[in-house]
Amino acid sequence: MHYRHLGSSGMVISEIVYGNWITHGSQVEENAAVACVRAALNNGITSFDTADVYAGGRAEEVLGRALKSERREGMEIFTKVYHPMGDGKNDRGLSRKHIMESIDNSLRRLQTDYVDLYQAHRYDPETPLEETMEAFADVVRSGKAHYIGVSEWTAEQIRAGHALARELRIPLVSNQPQYSALWRVIEGEVVPASRELGIGQIVFSPIAQGVLTGKYRPGAEPPAGSRATDERGSTFVARYLRDEVLERVQQIKPLAEEAGLTLAQLAVAWVLQNDNVSAAIIGASRPEQVSENAVAAGVELDEELVAKINDVLAPV
Ligand code: NDP
Repeated sequence: MHYRHLGSSGMVISEIVYGNWITHGSQVEENAAVACVRAALNNGITSFDTADVYAGGRAEEVLGRALKSERREGMEIFTKVYHPMGDGKNDRGLSRKHIMESIDNSLRRLQTDYVDLYQAHRYDPETPLEETMEAFADVVRSGKAHYIGVSEWTAEQIRAGHALARELRIPLVSNQPQYSALWRVIEGEVVPASRELGIGQIVFSPIAQGVLTGKYRPGAEPPAGSRATDERGSTFVARYLRDEVLERVQQIKPLAEEAGLTLAQLAVAWVLQNDNVSAAIIGASRPEQVSENAVAAGVELDEELVAKINDVLAPV
């Protein structure tokens, strides 16, 4: 494994983070989930990403059980708040009330006294940003989170959040956006603004939810047991499952082979070439996937290869 600083902070995380959306507490049984966490640890992954909302809290619980016997100081645990956790009018968003209640609920489910990174899962237009950042400041000062991050915020929202965090003297260090060779939205404004502010990207779906492994073939049924056959997962991966996209992915295969990598490894290595990316968050339904994808850490792709990939995989 290779390790990088999270943004300009002093905290060092693994270049590959293991995340448990769709899988833990839902698509995969607990023993498979634990096997994936073990595979992550065995491959030097020390950073783990989850969220309160994943499987209605069960994903945090599964991760908490899987990591319980590990040395806490050796790991970096990230979670998030924002999406609805119930039907109540305050069971959502980034109000002070919801943040203060949610951090305690997440810590209980994760069986830990603190998270390393507490993230605003989305921007909340209905709560004053000052209120949100002050609540985050109190979470940090109480020792329940060491760093604050955001997820899928625009450049403008990141700038505003960062300015308040500076005033409050709390470390807003990261943004968690979707980023892959098929989804490059952040390159326009988010990355330049983040570079300027010392904010790092920890990017999700680097292999486009499995599409950049090449296992979904044009004109064919999705393989059994894949996300595209999972009741909930299929709704998210569907955006990529068009023959035109799948054909382009197949064209990349020889380039991966030439580089001595699998397609999944090439896709993860591709996002890590961006110097504003602190880490790639990979998902996995099986431990072998973790071991395969973790090989991408530290891989350097030459410019010519990256240009060829970009030519073929112009964003969807
Ligand atoms: P990926 O793009 O890494 O997709 C992971 C899925 O692809 C796996 O669950 C598996 O699905 C398939 N796969 C992975 N490796 C292989 C392989 N080598 N061969 C074949 N299939 C493979 O990322 P995710 O979309 O899962 O997202 C990763 C994490 O990012 C999440 O767990 C979460 O922590 C975070 N995230 C954050 C979001 C946010 O809003 N902040 C939104 C989404 C994700 P299968 O075997 O079922 O086909």
